[in-house]
Parts: sequence; C-alpha cells; structure tokens
Amino acid sequence: MKIIIVGGVAGGMSAATRLRRLDETAQIIVFERGHYVSFANCGLPYFVGGIIRNRGDLLLQTPQSLGARFALDVRVDTEVVRIDRTAQTVSVRNVLTGDESIEHYDRLVLAAGASARSGATGSTIPTYTLRTVDDVDRITAVLAEAGAASAVVMGGGFIGLEAVENLVHRGVHVTLVQRGPQIFTPLDPEMAAPVLDRVRERGVDVRLNTTVTGTAGAGTVILSDGTTVPADLVIDASGVRPDVTLAEQAGLRIGESGGVWVDGTQATSDPLIFAVGDGVEKMDAVDGSGTLVTMAGLANRHGRSVADSIAGNTEHAAPALGTGILGIFGLTVALVGWSEKRLVAAGRAHRIAHTHPSNHAGYFPGAEGMSIKLLIDAESDAILGAQIVGGAGVDKRIDVLAVAMAAGLGASALTRLELAYAPQYASAKDPINQLGYVADNLAQGTSVNLQWHELEAARAAGAVLVDVRSAEEFAAGSIPGALNVSLDELRARLFELPRVPLIVHCQVGQRGHTAARILTESGFDAQNLDGGYRTWLAGTSSLMASPIAERVLV
Ligand SMILES: Cc1cc2nc3c(=O)[nH]c(=O)nc-3n(C[C@H](O)[C@H](O)[C@H](O)COP(=O)(O)OP(=O)(O)OC[C@H]3O[C@@H](n4cnc5c(N)ncnc54)[C@H](O)[C@@H]3O)c2cc1C
Repeated sequence: MKIIIVGGVAGGMSAATRLRRLDETAQIIVFERGHYVSFANCGLPYFVGGIIRNRGDLLLQTPQSLGARFALDVRVDTEVVRIDRTAQTVSVRNVLTGDESIEHYDRLVLAAGASARSGATGSTIPTYTLRTVDDVDRITAVLAEAGAASAVVMGGGFIGLEAVENLVHRGVHVTLVQRGPQIFTPLDPEMAAPVLDRVRERGVDVRLNTTVTGTAGAGTVILSDGTTVPADLVIDASGVRPDVTLAEQAGLRIGESGGVWVDGTQATSDPLIFAVGDGVEKMDAVDGSGTLVTMAGLANRHGRSVADSIAGNTEHAAPALGTGILGIFGLTVALVGWSEKRLVAAGRAHRIAHTHPSNHAGYFPGAEGMSIKLLIDAESDAILGAQIVGGAGVDKRIDVLAVAMAAGLGASALTRLELAYAPQYASAKDPINQLGYVADNLAQGTSVNLQWHELEAARAAGAVLVDVRSAEEFAAGSIPGALNVSLDELRARLFELPRVPLIVHCQVGQRGHTAARILTESGFDAQNLDGGYRTWLAGTSSLMASPIAERVLV
C-alpha cells in the first residue's frame, strides 16, 4: 500500500505517524511545500513575543527524525500541484528547482490546512501573515532591523489577539484594526466587552468598524475612518479560509461551508482520497450541519482517525463542538458550541444563564473571578454552548462543559456532577454546579430571567426595575431609573412596590433570584435580570457594537 499525504504539519503528520504504527509495511510519503514539517504553529506568536526564546523549540520534528523513527519519506519544499484521480497519481513540484515529477498513490490524504484571508481594502501596503516559521522569521527580522516601535494588527480573532499581546510584550505600540463592531466575534457582545477593556487597558489602540485602506508613506497606514496610524509592521490576521485548491481541481465535493466534504471516516467523495484538518468541513455538534472549525485538536484527532480508516479500523468521527481557548493579557477567554448570536440567527429557541463565580472558595486567599454564559435548548435542556471569561480556573470549567456537551448531559444535570473540591481549587458548589442550579431553576420555572438586552423593551412595556443591592452598592453605580430596595429589607417593604411586572436585579444575579422568589411567593409578577448589574454593564458598554444590541436596543 502506497499512501501519499499532502501537508506535513498537524493533521498530515498525525495521520502519517499513526499509519506507521498501524502498518509497518506501507510506503508513506509526506509532501510539504514549506521548508519545515511538524512545527508548532500554535507557538509562533509566542516566539514573536520572545516568550518562547529558542526558535528550535518550534520545530518538533525534521524529515530526518521522522525517517529514523517512523520510516516516513518526508519531502519538504515539495508542492503537490495536481491530482489525477483516474491514474491515481499526483504531480509534485520542487519549489526550489521547479522540477516536476509524478507519484502514484493507493490512498491519498489531503491535509493542506487553511490559507490566510486579506483584511486590507484596496491597500497595496506590505503585510505579514503569522502562520508559518518563515512568517515569524520575517516578522522578527522587521522588528529587529527597523527597531520597530509600532505595528498595526488587522483582525481581533484568536491569532490577531495573540499577535497583539506578543507585540506589546516586545514593547511595540499596537493599533488593532477590526472590521466589525466587536473583537473576538465568536463571543457574544457582553462577554467580549471585558476582553476589549483589557486590551485597551494595556495601551492598545483598538479601532472598531475600521479597515486599513492604504499607506501614507513608510511607517504610516491610512484607516477607513480617515485617520493615519504609525505602523513599522502590519500583520494581517483577518482570518482563514479552507485551502481546497487541490480538491477543487480534482473535482472532489466541496461542502456547504466551503471546506472539503468528508464522511465520518474522513473519506472524500472519492473513496481513495481522504482529507483532514483546517481544509475540511466538520459536522457541527449542535445541529449536524457542515461547519468549519480550524483548531489543532480536531486536526490531530482526525489525522489519527484517518489512519485508522485507511488501515481498516473504521471509527466514525464525533461531531465538532468548536471548543477553543485564548489567553490575552492575563485574561482567559474560552468557548464551546454556539453563541447567542448564532442561536438567534438560526431561530433556535434557547434559555440563557449568566453567572459570575470565583474560581475557588472566596475565603481562601487568591480567588479570581470569572463570567460564565451558558446557552441551553429551551425544549430539551441540552447544552448548546458556553462562554467563559476570567482568571484562573476558566480552562477547567470550559473543559467540563465540553465534556458535558459531548456526553449529552442536560444543563440541569450539571447540578449533579461530583467535582473535585478543596478551598484552594474550587467551591463545594463548584461554578459548574452553580450554573446547573440556575439552569435547573429556569427549566423548572422556579426562576424566570430576562437578558440585559431585553430590559429596555420590558420597561417600555410597563415593567418596573428593582435593584435589591445595598444602598452603598446602589450609590456606587446603578441602572438609571431603578428603585432601590435591598434584599434584606424587601419583605418589610413589599407594600411600596407597584403591582406591575417587576424586574429585580443585584450585582451578579444570585440575590436577584432570592428576591424574585420572595416577590413571586408574595403574588408579584417578578423576573430576575440574568447576570445582574455586571452583565448589564458589560452588555451596554458594547451597546452600539453588537448585532444583538443593534437589533434589540436601537
Ligand atoms: C499562529 C497560529 C496559532 C494557532 N494557535 C492555535 C491554538 O492555540 N489552538 C488551536 O487549537 N489551534 C491553533 N491554531 C490552529 C492550528 O494550528 C490548526 O488548526 C492546525 O494546524 C490545522 O492543521 P492542518 O494539518 O489542517 O493544517 P496545517 O497545520 O496548517 O498544515 C497544512 C500544511 O499543508 C501544507 N500544504 C498545503 N498545500 C500543500 C500542497 N499543495 N503541497 C504540499 N504541502 C501543502 C502547508 O504548507 C502546511 O504546512 C493556530 C494556528 C496558527 C497559524
């Protein structure tokens, strides 16, 4: 069996090494058009920032080491330029010499990854991408040689934000140019608001609803808002698209999302050709549709399973949850599944729970806060997605939620998870259990909540807002027009409240829930403002910047 693999990094090399472990006799050739294989793309931004100091640490394997350990024939600087499905051959070109040759295959694996999208509009200025070892060599050369003091980063997604953090770490002044109204668009606006605050607090000049349109001479770029900003270096991190060049040329089926279509065994529409990684369409775990998830975990996982498929141990791929995590200036941002924006766009009925717990018992020194948002199917109670932003412990909670989603646990079942607890690690009611309590109350109707972006419409319809925090908290900042009746005085002051629909809120939602229960038990029509003042504040600070806000609040 002769197996050819196109692309020698995450998906391709996982496939190659697993294949070898399963079949000692197969001939396995890996073609990689770049100069390096099996490099740590996820570490590249941290080499730019000087956090990873040794460039060699990014190079996890070489053709020689892969040949020695796995008997792989790895050919770098070699691009596959054509597939002939009838002849079962690929045409390959040596990118250094231009020489072309032809190789026969019994099975072909496409692991060509994704290619960068350009974010500049009508601009001819030189930009750098941050995707390969060659890219970081070029970027670090510019930074060193020009003594670069300023940079523009286009795109506030995963790679753009990592680039921003690392450039700041190097002492570079950064302007972050974001085409749309919100950075880190996988999040909902109220969850992205603290990320924007943190980036701005660290001195980054963030320009929303803006693009780079041109240059005003060396070291200066022009933005679509008419201003100019200094830029010794411009990094384009505007996003990626699946690289389907070869698949299209070969007439393979392309999925609805634009990635190469594969079945659950990673086979394309040609049963002799398989595909994995960023170039491939995945099946979405929430609705089963074709989706793109360009993350290393899936590329590695599918690389392994394609080897199993080729070796005859067929295992169908699990749907993709889209679990991701980002560190930015000490803040951890993590997500899984769908956002509210996406659920609203799809018209899927859902419930939402916002909480703001600490990572561990508050009485134990060093507790750090986090904000969690859980999206729940309104009919089945299934977990549809989650977003968490905060300090320590965010990574652990998103992973628990990802496991819960993969296992098909309902949101209310989070109450029953028996999670490890000692005061320096968690709380006896872990943030995940607390989330479950909120979800369970919503499912049972014990609690009825209202989202931050629904408040104005509810008040316009006659509801009265009651802030149940203390007078001191109220004085320190409150929602305009709210009545202040603290929770501890509420029972005694019920007679002061009008017999109209009431919306109660506290700081984070917990006292609000107790207040809503007292009011409901006393015959009032009461709803709790989900996530309290903190979520409302985050949401309204993103007000003019969010599709939900524009839709609901304008
Ligand atoms: C800077 C950066 C940071 C990242 N950080 C994270 C992270 O923290 N967490 C995470 O989950 N994901 C992260 N990712 C994404 C992750 O790296 C990708 O999801 C993963 O590498 C995809 O694997 P792949 O095999 O599909 O593509 P790649 O790893 O990109 O490999 C594809 C390879 O195919 C080669 N190729 C393409 N066409 C041909 C051809 N015709 N002939 C020969 N060779 C070809 C390319 O040169 C490339 O080397 C990051 C990506 C980047 C760029």
